[in-house]
Amino acid sequence: MNQHYDLICIGGGSGGVATANRAGAHGAKVALIEADRLGGTCVNVGCVPKKIMWSAAQFAHAFDDAAGYGFTLPGYRFDWEALVSARDAYVRDLNAAYGRHLASNQVEVMRGWARFAGPNAIVVDNREITAEQILIATGGHPIAPPIPGANLGIDSNGFFALKQQPRRLAVVGAGYIAVEVAGLMQALGTAVTLCLRRDHFLHGFDHMLSRALMTQMQADGVDIRLHLFPAGVERDGDDLYLIAGDGMRHGPFDTILWAIGRRANTAALDLGRAGVFAHESGVIPVDAWQVTNVPNIHAVGDVIGHHELTPVAIAAGRRLADRLFGGKPDRRLDYDRIPTVIFSHPPIGTVGLTEGEAFARHGAGAKVYETSFTPMYHGFTDRKVKMSMKLVVAGPDETVVGCHLIGPGADEMLQGFGVAVRMGATKANFDDTVAIHPSASEEMVTIKTARAARTDT
Ligand code: FAD
Ligand code: NDP
Repeated sequence: MNQHYDLICIGGGSGGVATANRAGAHGAKVALIEADRLGGTCVNVGCVPKKIMWSAAQFAHAFDDAAGYGFTLPGYRFDWEALVSARDAYVRDLNAAYGRHLASNQVEVMRGWARFAGPNAIVVDNREITAEQILIATGGHPIAPPIPGANLGIDSNGFFALKQQPRRLAVVGAGYIAVEVAGLMQALGTAVTLCLRRDHFLHGFDHMLSRALMTQMQADGVDIRLHLFPAGVERDGDDLYLIAGDGMRHGPFDTILWAIGRRANTAALDLGRAGVFAHESGVIPVDAWQVTNVPNIHAVGDVIGHHELTPVAIAAGRRLADRLFGGKPDRRLDYDRIPTVIFSHPPIGTVGLTEGEAFARHGAGAKVYETSFTPMYHGFTDRKVKMSMKLVVAGPDETVVGCHLIGPGADEMLQGFGVAVRMGATKANFDDTVAIHPSASEEMVTIKTARAARTDT
């Protein structure tokens, strides 16, 4: 017998689970279909295992720093297997907790691959179910370059499956994953080579951030190779070599990681059966209400192709459920001024317009307040990690339209400043706020020096 639901969510990751739970809490009859482990990318092969490894890497830096504070530490040993097994146990607990939370909201979880049979019908494991509303929250998967030998490398999923610590790791890519993995692995004792196509990484972020991070990563020993276009991978015994477009052979490495972006999971959905449009890239475009070109079919999260962040998928999904089932017809996510953190070493926190974007939008009306200093903590350590801060302001009242931080603690610092920027705070509001002393964040409310914004160089 066919079962009929108010809502079917395809995908049990950040977006699907959040939408299903909120809809269930509103009393809707909800089915959620997941082919793999509950929690999706973030819980299993993304934010969570990554943050655990980032924290481990923080210890390595702290041990190095301790001598400056009078500690003599016995030589320490890092046990990759111990960390990986504790990490994986933590993730398994989260998988189970996700299941319990869905059950508490009366969400029916079905296991298997879902595909469309029509605008209201889904097939999972040869069983057809129907619903008034359908949500596509199928996320994405990492890609590898279409070059000979690419299969000798691993992607971010493969990284989290590594049973042994690579001794010599090449990371190919220039985005979030590339700089995060390169930084944490170098701190954990792996010799890391980071391979970029351009002369900088984190394209699209404020240039102050990428410049400062590159300086620190090089100081920490990461070998950064510029203008390297990957053209192939060759194996020689246990050694891997990355062949560049100019014929140069880079290596030897024992692991090569592709961190060159992701592709939306839509190929297996049979979207045509429901008339849902997707771009050639697999991305499903939606309107401001998360609606696809088919009125009862919605999409949230990575599958819509922008702001690929867990809290964004969750926020969009919860608002959609509030709108459809919670009697809140105006609820929707405003994608403007969304804060984001890159868990590099040191971390980056950023929200709003880059200096270049503000200049393009406001011209001479855009100004920049910036500072760079060595935090007190590093006054006592051999590693001198800098903190750099930039406030981008616009208009006669100097509204803060961008806030960019890099340095120790920037990851935790940004959330509060994100609220201020979101509320439309002005530079005068920042200046009016009494500083917290002694801290690095106090500089954010005391920056004096202003200059005209420029186009990014
Ligand atoms: P996903 O979480 O990918 O969930 C989609 C689910 O759908 C998957 O479980 C998949 O198995 C399932 N699925 C797909 N097709 C079907 C089908 N046909 N039938 C049934 N099930 C299907 N974001 C942050 O905010 N902070 C971070 O620190 C962070 N770190 C990251 C680190 C890495 C290495 C990666 C790869 C990503 C990271 N992200 C981070 C991004 C974050 O993980 C994603 O933005 C988020 O998981 C997107 O949620 P989603 O629901 O759209 O998709
Ligand atoms: P990104 O899109 O962030 O970066 C990939 C980069 O790789 C591109 O920008 C490009 O940079 C470079 N690249 C693309 N193709 C090639 C190629 N053939 N050879 C060499 N370099 C190439 O993707 P990621 O995979 O790093 O991450 C995916 C998404 O996951 C992120 O965008 C982010 O939204 C999310 N994420 C969030 C995290 C967080 O919140 N902390 C952490 C990790 C992921 P260029 O053009 O400069 O060469």
